[in-house]
Amino acid sequence: MEGSVDHNETLDSLLHEERVFRPLPQMMIEAGVNPQDLRAARELADTDLSAYWEEAAEELDWFTKWEKVLDDSEPPDYRWFTGARCNIVYNALDRHIETVNKNRLALIWEGEPGDSRQFTYYELYRAVNRFANGLKSLGVSKGDRVVLYMPQLPETVISMLACARIGAVHSLVFSGFSARLLRERVREIHPKVVVTVDGFYRNGQVIRLKEEVDRALIDTPAEILESVVVVHRANVDVDMDSARDYWYEDLVRHERPHAPAEIMAADDPLFILHTSSTSGKSKGVIHSHGGYMVGVHRTFKWVFDLKPTDIFWCAADPGWITGHSYLVYGPLLAGTTTVMYEGHSLYPQADRMWNIISKYGVTIFYTSPTQVRTLMRFGHRYPEQHDLSTLRILGAVGEPFNPEAWIWLHKNIGKGQCPVLDTWWQTETGMIMISPMPVSVLKPGSVTRPLPGIDADIVDIEGKSVPEGKGGFLVIKKPWPAMFIGVLGDEHVIRDHYWGRFPGMFYAGDVARKDEDGYFWIQGRADDVLNISGHRIGTAEVESALTSHPHVAEAVVVGVADKIKGQVAKAFVTLNYDVVETDDELHSELKSHIHRELGPIVIIRSIEFLDELPKTSSGKIKRSALK
Ligand code: AMP
Repeated sequence: MEGSVDHNETLDSLLHEERVFRPLPQMMIEAGVNPQDLRAARELADTDLSAYWEEAAEELDWFTKWEKVLDDSEPPDYRWFTGARCNIVYNALDRHIETVNKNRLALIWEGEPGDSRQFTYYELYRAVNRFANGLKSLGVSKGDRVVLYMPQLPETVISMLACARIGAVHSLVFSGFSARLLRERVREIHPKVVVTVDGFYRNGQVIRLKEEVDRALIDTPAEILESVVVVHRANVDVDMDSARDYWYEDLVRHERPHAPAEIMAADDPLFILHTSSTSGKSKGVIHSHGGYMVGVHRTFKWVFDLKPTDIFWCAADPGWITGHSYLVYGPLLAGTTTVMYEGHSLYPQADRMWNIISKYGVTIFYTSPTQVRTLMRFGHRYPEQHDLSTLRILGAVGEPFNPEAWIWLHKNIGKGQCPVLDTWWQTETGMIMISPMPVSVLKPGSVTRPLPGIDADIVDIEGKSVPEGKGGFLVIKKPWPAMFIGVLGDEHVIRDHYWGRFPGMFYAGDVARKDEDGYFWIQGRADDVLNISGHRIGTAEVESALTSHPHVAEAVVVGVADKIKGQVAKAFVTLNYDVVETDDELHSELKSHIHRELGPIVIIRSIEFLDELPKTSSGKIKRSALK
């Protein structure tokens, strides 16, 4: 590899994970994409990127085919499938009801109190069409925006699809946000309609969401917002404004279960979704019907090795990109059964997730490192009480996956039989970018290699590739179909920031390193790098070292100013529930542990023990709060 590498322009990497997990023979036999296929796909994508993605696009239905797969004549304004006409919902519903999938379960939903609802593809198709017609009756048409302030309910999926079907742009606002944020979003997005619920269940409580809507919309003129649609869920009393508010059930009752799918250009907007942002302001990222559909469909089917018998559960909230791409669109595009759970993972006790897996026979479970670490604190007692034998693949996304949590998931949930796929991607990328496949050789803590068609690299401050083992900035050097097509209210950010920081490359904002096998290890956000005596160290390495101590459940490390060393680290940790040592004992024990694991460079000034770490609403550790 090339590159004049100045020590201070790259990251040091102190942690070395030696454990390796090879795919089981059965997986090598049964996987839809075997290592030879994968090699061929990579070769094709490397030599002819358009041919690779064209082949992926051919698996879907189009009203009109493209003139060009990728128009890259004016970078970074990349345009995918130019001239093509499609509708993502046509591919997620209509084409399945022409096949054996018609009566297959599309959605299994479980409410927190234990109630359950299920929809076949045909039932979901009819429900979506009814609401599509209901939205039309409120005057919503192609290009209008609709805010969905919704928890995890079937009607959330129905609303997303109903909007997309008629060409309206949906924008989910996470149901854990309060009136103030909803108000901000409504003023930024200018929706014609807001869809919400009376209330929903969360951790044994009823959250009265409609009340938040009323607070958020005080003094909001009809030019900004015309109607509010309210779904019955918790049956709590709500105030209904007769000039503005409609019950969902009243609206759809007399609507026909058929509505044509609007013919959309491939790069017409599908949704606006805000990034989760652990620091700084969240951005409203815009995705398209065509490119997004191709990227999500291909990655969903390949990464999770989809089989017709799979029951897929993505435990993310639909308010975040993971929920959009791999709870709703990916599974439905592929004709899979997707599982959705309304409530809290520890309600009524810490075995709820394992209970859901055994109850519905979940075969693929896609979660986050944070969720694993939370459940791990309770040990193996709870998973042991449930039959998890249907599981065949496990996955995670959202934060660096510390090796100890990875190993715990592999051993206690996968029983050593399920590959654990650590998938790296972002709201902006729309789809999984760097990830193992079920036939890959796995190293705990590594996201392994870029998927076919993804040209990822690690560069120094000047944009030059760094040598193996050194850390630097994670970049993507070629466009990919599910890439975002814009950012709300900021026309220049794509050119100036994302593709401008290192000209010709997409800057992801993360730091990472590549090892001798070309495997990627994400070291954290670029804004969070520690600089101790001139050594630049990604926070994830120190956090992983802390969580490799058997008593530590979660850890976060921030840099604090130091007169001599420039910076030293300060750690915040939560402990497993069975720890008996005192804080003082643990303090010195953990400091020596860090010394053993990372050497003398990382100086931890202090360690604070907390019951819980502050998290963003999508569950990521909120470093800004701890700083
Ligand atoms: P979001 O705003 O939710 O799109 O967050 C995207 C960010 O989450 C990425 O830029 C990473 O910092 C982090 N992230 C996502 N997946 C992973 C992963 N597998 N390993 C490490 N960090 C990840």
